[in-house]
Amino acid sequence: MSPRNPVWHPFTQHGLGAPIPRITRAEGASLWTEDGDRIVDAISSWWVTTHGHCHPRISAAIAEQAGKLDQMIFAGWTHEPAQQLAEGLVALLDGRLAGNEGPEGGLPYVFFSDSGATAVEVALKMALGFRANQGQPHRHRILVLEHSYHGDTIGAMSVGARGVFNAPYAPLLFDVGVVPYPGTGAEQASLDALEAACRAGDVAAFIVEPLVLGAGGMLLYAASTLREMRAICAAHGVLFIADEVMTGWGRTGTLLACEQAGVCPDILCLAKGITGGAVPLAVTLASEAVYAAHYSTNRARTFYHSSSYTANPIACAAANANLAIWAKEPVMQRITTLAARQAGGAQMLAGVAGIANVRQCGTILALDYRVAAGAGYLSALGPRLLAHFRELGLLIRPLGNTAYLMPPYCIEPEDLARCHEALARAARIN
Ligand code: PMP
Repeated sequence: MSPRNPVWHPFTQHGLGAPIPRITRAEGASLWTEDGDRIVDAISSWWVTTHGHCHPRISAAIAEQAGKLDQMIFAGWTHEPAQQLAEGLVALLDGRLAGNEGPEGGLPYVFFSDSGATAVEVALKMALGFRANQGQPHRHRILVLEHSYHGDTIGAMSVGARGVFNAPYAPLLFDVGVVPYPGTGAEQASLDALEAACRAGDVAAFIVEPLVLGAGGMLLYAASTLREMRAICAAHGVLFIADEVMTGWGRTGTLLACEQAGVCPDILCLAKGITGGAVPLAVTLASEAVYAAHYSTNRARTFYHSSSYTANPIACAAANANLAIWAKEPVMQRITTLAARQAGGAQMLAGVAGIANVRQCGTILALDYRVAAGAGYLSALGPRLLAHFRELGLLIRPLGNTAYLMPPYCIEPEDLARCHEALARAARIN
């Protein structure tokens, strides 16, 4: 009997015994297995890798920082990589969001954490802290969009869709108000529901994934709807939280999805591509009003949140290198080129029998395979699709009967074409 493998993988049912390939090296949009096989990383290793794996600027920044200052407490102390990053982020986002519908002065404050889920937890705590410190503790209800996903910690799960992912933990999840998904034709109903919920007077904040509901099935909705949602929240004094953990850093064709709607949120969550996807880091940016509500000589009004690795200097150095890449390399051009190639793929796939709802937002392409029964995350088709893509040397991880591509911006055109072809061929394994 072979020795038991001690590794317990995420979102993996070990009882099914599917093989788990071992990766030893990565570069650009490629991963190499220990056997030397090349795999095309068509989902950016869970949506994090933006400029490609092991980008030289990011790898060099990590190595340099690791030899200088590796880690230090961030409560009451600071360091250059974090300072530089906070200032760089504020300036970058100011350039993109200034003048948009939203708080005066944009988002001048940056709170650090380590993952998308914690960035969301921080956002929710900021919203509740804002209410409590303003003497409005009765305004503690959070509104969410149907089919949303914000992470796997208890708070983040609470504001995400309920389902197979979190059913056992339901007793721990707090109650939220759910606004129907504003898909084509359902926009007004969704806006009306948001307006009615806001009018109740007990709402602290509304949290949204702008333009694309990612883990919920790569569901798109219009920028004009996002803009109207933002306006409704503003009219009712409801904080508007944008979770751009997935959509940020160019995925939707602009640095932030919010840009396309001409809006600026009161609170913004960023993670994943903030370091180019090399090491974990997240930030939650806040408006002047949210910060001001916590600013006091009264220690009880402090924003009580932290974790050991808050603003880890090595992670901040990687993020600073990412900002340098955005400033110095033709990132937007790469994104535009990739988006155009995805549009070509989408056109081809829309004509394939067995494929429905081909959709695209910037660099993201998604589609549904028609199934007679059992659509959704536990669709029996999912594992068969996964195996099909693996056999072809592609890392494409379906969400049930939905498949999508979200590659690093450096993916070679031939590799992308292989992905489009594989998606088309997969329609036949149904
Ligand atoms: N928010 C969104 C919109 C996400 O897509 C994700 C992760 N896929 C998260 C939050 C959670 O991020 P993390 O996995 O880094 O905790």
